[in-house]
Order: sequence, then C-alpha cells, then structure tokens
Amino acid sequence: MGVKMKKAYFAKGDCFITVEEALDKQIREALFCASENCRIPVTPRRSHFREINHKKKVIPSHFMIKGKRDHDSDCCYNTEGQLKIIAKDSEDALSSTDNQKFLLRLNLITSEMKKDKDSSSKDVQSSSKKPSTKTYENKGKLNSYLSTMSKIMKLQSEVENNQELNQLIKLDVGRKQVRWSQFFYNEDRHRQCYNYVHTNSIHPVCICGEISSIELNKKFNCYSLKLKKRKLNEVSNDEDGIKRVPSILVNVYNESVAKHIKYKNEVEQLKNISFFSFIKTSSKPYLKDVLYLNMYGFVHHSKQIYVF
Ligand SMILES: [Zn+2]
Repeated sequence: MGVKMKKAYFAKGDCFITVEEALDKQIREALFCASENCRIPVTPRRSHFREINHKKKVIPSHFMIKGKRDHDSDCCYNTEGQLKIIAKDSEDALSSTDNQKFLLRLNLITSEMKKDKDSSSKDVQSSSKKPSTKTYENKGKLNSYLSTMSKIMKLQSEVENNQELNQLIKLDVGRKQVRWSQFFYNEDRHRQCYNYVHTNSIHPVCICGEISSIELNKKFNCYSLKLKKRKLNEVSNDEDGIKRVPSILVNVYNESVAKHIKYKNEVEQLKNISFFSFIKTSSKPYLKDVLYLNMYGFVHHSKQIYVF
C-alpha cells in the first residue's frame, strides 16, 4: 500500500522513467521506488477500470509495490510518512498517537469554522450583487487547519488503496471519536453519507464525487456546484418499492474558488472534487416512487475543496 507513483527509478539506465514510458517499452524489471532513501521494487500497472455504482471509472496507470515490503517510513510515497509530514505543519490539528495512528482534531477545526462563519455570512449579505471575492485565507489558525484538511483530501485521492486512511486516522469530534469511514465518503457511499449526516450533524464531513456543473445562483448570491447523480434506471428499488437517490449540491460563496473549480474542470479536464463542509439534508419526492436524498454543503475557503 502507499501513494500511487507516476515515475520510478530504472536501475539499468540509472535514470527515472514515467509509468507511460515503462509500459511503452515493456520494462518490468529493475524498477524501484523513486525516493532515494527507499528504493523498494515496483512494477507498472496499466490504467484500468473499476466499477463504481454500475459505472466504469478509469484508474490511471501508476507504479505499484512489487512484493511484500512497504515503502520506507521516511519515503514520500509511504502514506504514514505523508501523514507525519502533514502533521508537522498542522498546528496540532493532526497528531500521531502511540499506536502508529493519527488523530485529526475535527473539534478544533469546527470551532474555528463557527467563529469565522458569523463574519463571512455578514459579508455575503452585504454584497447583494455578486458573491464575495474576498478570501479568508489570512485568518491564521483556520487557514492552517483547512490547509491540513486539503492536504489530507489530496492524499486520500492518491493512495493505492481507498481503505488505507481508515486504518490510520481517527477523528476527535468533541465528545467522542469517529472513524475515517464515518467522515469521508467516496461516490459509491453517498447514500451512507446521507444516512449518517441526517442523524449526526454535529461535525462536518468530506464528500468526493464527480463534478456535474457549477453555475452562478443569483437567488442565493453564490455559485451552485452540483455533483453527478446516479441515473434512475441504475438505482434499484428499496424493499418499500421506492428508489432513493442521493443528490449533492454545494453552495460556493467565494467567486475565486468557484472560478478555480470551473477552470480545473473545463480547461484542465479534471472531473472529481472532494469538499469538506457541514451538511444539511432534506428528502424530496419525485414522481411516485422516487425520493431524492438531498445533501447541501457550504464552501467559503479555497482549502475546503480539492479538485483532481
Ligand atoms: Zn518508497
């Protein structure tokens, strides 16, 4: 397990090669981790499909570990090592615990977000025409906390095994600890996310999905980011005969963040986004046998999102 690697050290040529080059030239031997202090054997893996919600999703080609040895603990492709690096700059939002695990203090982040919310909501109300372009990046602790969150979202998108962070991170939400899987929801777990946040709205969560559109919403003075929903014919009926379809909408209150998402999506052709937010829920019937499970997120800061 570890972080997906795009280039490796090729011992026969004493050089680095990309995964595309290795695949093209059919090089499968003498390849090692790109990090000098590590150099465990790796092998190229061609891009392949993974089926998620009855849809085929492309997993890009990358080098994966060959054999049983994990990356050296100081290697930048070692997930735990990456978390250690993130923890160093996190102002205690992330710290390592005795049993080789990490504790993410969501309660610290949440209380800073709540403090900030009051001032930012005033700004949104006062600028009646356009969403605010003002950033809140300079607010010391909150900026640093959200930066930590953004780095962790990036790491989650790069690990070879989706479950790895679940084994490494626990979250402190105040009165109790929750698991990473209760906090982070990939697109195949949007329904579980709805069920969880509907009854546990005390802490924010991270949701990952495919971008559908992002447009100016004049009525609410923000940009509305929609994530792709599953098609009705792909959703099976529950026991009561009703199809329940998760539907996710994120209100982006900062124009520069909205433009950043649009640019990444439309120009750089990046399809996926992870965002970190409190979630509000509501369910709405559609036709006789369809119920939309609506989830609403709220973004003010550039570091609340990660597009990839
Ligand atoms: Zn390594």
